[in-house]
Amino acid sequence: MDDREQAHRLDAADPLAPYRDRVVIADPEQIYLDGNSLGRLPATTADRLHRAITEEWGEGLVGSWAHWFDIPRTVGDLLGTTLLGADAGEVLMGETTSSNLYKLAAAALDARPDRRVIVTDDDNFPSDRYVLEGLAHAYGHELRMIKADIDEGVSVDDVRAAVDDDVALVSLSQVAFRSGALADMEAVTSVVHDAGALMIWDLAHSVGAVPIDLHSAGVELAVGCTYKYLCGGPGAPAFLYVAGELQSQLRQPIWGWFGQRNQFEMGPAYDPVEDISRFAVSSPPILGAYAAEEGIRLIAEAGLDRLRAKAIALTSYLIELADAWLTPHGFRLASPRDPTRRGAHVTLHHPQAWQICQALIDRGVVPDYRTPERLRIGPAPLYTRFIDVYDAMHRLREVMEQRVYIDYPVEQARVT
Ligand SMILES: *Cc1c(COP(=O)(O)O)cnc(C)c1O
Repeated sequence: MDDREQAHRLDAADPLAPYRDRVVIADPEQIYLDGNSLGRLPATTADRLHRAITEEWGEGLVGSWAHWFDIPRTVGDLLGTTLLGADAGEVLMGETTSSNLYKLAAAALDARPDRRVIVTDDDNFPSDRYVLEGLAHAYGHELRMIKADIDEGVSVDDVRAAVDDDVALVSLSQVAFRSGALADMEAVTSVVHDAGALMIWDLAHSVGAVPIDLHSAGVELAVGCTYKYLCGGPGAPAFLYVAGELQSQLRQPIWGWFGQRNQFEMGPAYDPVEDISRFAVSSPPILGAYAAEEGIRLIAEAGLDRLRAKAIALTSYLIELADAWLTPHGFRLASPRDPTRRGAHVTLHHPQAWQICQALIDRGVVPDYRTPERLRIGPAPLYTRFIDVYDAMHRLREVMEQRVYIDYPVEQARVT
């Protein structure tokens, strides 16, 4: 087990190894294991943005809107058809995950006017819970919280027990941000739809890491971000997905001019188009969409099946090393052990996780800390090597053996 050569052999056999050169590695000594929070910068992105800024903005000026208008849909089509199992015309780029969740959730509640319950889980991403809490407050609805196992995620039975004929909407994350637990998207969706409710999936922690087939899973509504595994960069536009058949039946609550029929007639009253653009609000973030497009292309080229296989191999290797080296130091796995039930990151529990995390960062390894008492380790499969996992776990073992972490102040984590 204590065999660095084994990690080298795994890297030598990795078909995705060349993709490490397709992203910027500014500091080769640093082991970056937080690609699930902010993905690395693709090698092509800076040039692409430089060209867009100098040519499209600097030279083209307002005339560039002629093709900028289409960007939220063309990039959405690329994402939808290559990584989400959606058709063209079902995915729109823009705004943030939280804002898109708000829009789709409000639209869903309006489509079920006789039902008064919103269901989510108490371990869902905070912003998702807050958005749904705000909507429940505004509508006078009940927010029903599934009590989730924070290490194992939400089960189909949990969802079945929570839905009844008063439920308008269920919203869950496909991959839990803390534990990495992967929900059974198809089974959950069918339980929710059978109860007559609408279902919104948050794909922020799964898109680009887990093969997703929204159509075959029967998914009608989804949102997600592009700055994690998709490497779109800070503030990159999020996306929303609405299944074709449902689009004209739903109306989102922010009536902006980019959803308007014959936008430039500047007419007196809101009259939205029938298609996916009716979920748009305002001027799209063009530069951010270009950056997102570079990341989406790169992930699509690497291929989700290969990325998934490597993510399973990397996280399984990480867990193997943690079992052997870290369990004796009081660590416990806080993610599903079954690789088919987790996304692309692994979480380890330790009572001193905060201090250990700081000690690790000072030793050139970047995971992140998550409450309560957890170290979250995301070896993004596009650019993380097996040797990175080996060295990171080795350094973590040294931190424990030498007890250097006890010199770090006990402090609360920042939220992000
Ligand atoms: C990262 C993440 C978000 C991000 O929300 P923003 O509105 O883009 O800040 C939302 N949901 C989940 C599950 C996430 O992991």
